[in-house]
Amino acid sequence: MKLDVSGKTALITGASGGLGAHFAEVLAAAGAQVTLSARRADKLADVTADLRTKGYEADAVDLDVTDEASVKALFAQRSFDIVINNAGISGEGMAIDMPAEAFDQVINTNLRGSFLVAQAGASALRAAGKPGAIVNIASILGLRVGGGLVAYTASKAAVVQMTKAMALEWARYGIRVNALCPGYIETPINAEFFQTKPGLALISRIPQRRLGRESELDGALLLLASDAGSYITGTTLAVDGGHLVSGL
Ligand code: NAD
Repeated sequence: MKLDVSGKTALITGASGGLGAHFAEVLAAAGAQVTLSARRADKLADVTADLRTKGYEADAVDLDVTDEASVKALFAQRSFDIVINNAGISGEGMAIDMPAEAFDQVINTNLRGSFLVAQAGASALRAAGKPGAIVNIASILGLRVGGGLVAYTASKAAVVQMTKAMALEWARYGIRVNALCPGYIETPINAEFFQTKPGLALISRIPQRRLGRESELDGALLLLASDAGSYITGTTLAVDGGHLVSGL
């Protein structure tokens, strides 16, 4: 069985850069017609142009995952065989003094946003009588704690449990829902931090003693999104160089 998504349509949220843009290319290269979304579609122009230059089918839409009306409006017009709930914010903050508004913002984006997109995605598939695959990008910080990230950790843990609840409810419609939990993956945004003393200390606690590369998420993403994973639902797949089992 090849990890192939030919003939399928896929929506990726938060796709203007980082992992979202990467996931869009991975799915496009595996044959999907990809729709990239971001709060401002103009920010997607370069990424979609690059994909088209490579011969892939790609378009772009505006989508703020926290805006319920926009989410519903998008899925009222279209259904997607694959939905990648990637948009997220880290919202650093200590539990002792994090303003409630900042806490709310993280939960609103990471948890409520993923809920809205998955719900609308599943409703559209159900209305079209089609099966589908939803991949919620959680984090190993949904399964273990990380200092100074109280809201992020809480949001990702909730995404993991929400994924299981959705999988249980939507299996009867042929809709699979899984959580992909990346460990520490090197992206342009965090590259600088991982050169610092605390960043290097963190890397030393990963059993494989290095950060993950974006490309090392590809197999897991495609397994969960494609028919190769047709009997996988409600699972949590960590790609973390052994971080979860290190206990550190
Ligand atoms: P990133 O900041 O580069 O990407 C997040 C994207 O989400 C950005 O494009 C941002 O504009 C978008 N976004 C934020 N709020 C949004 C909203 N309301 N509506 C639509 N889009 C919105 O970070 P990344 O590292 O590429 O992370 C992508 C996902 O992977 C996130 O969910 C993150 O929590 C998760 N993750 C990343 C790592 C890592 O090491 N990079 C590890 C574990 C989990």
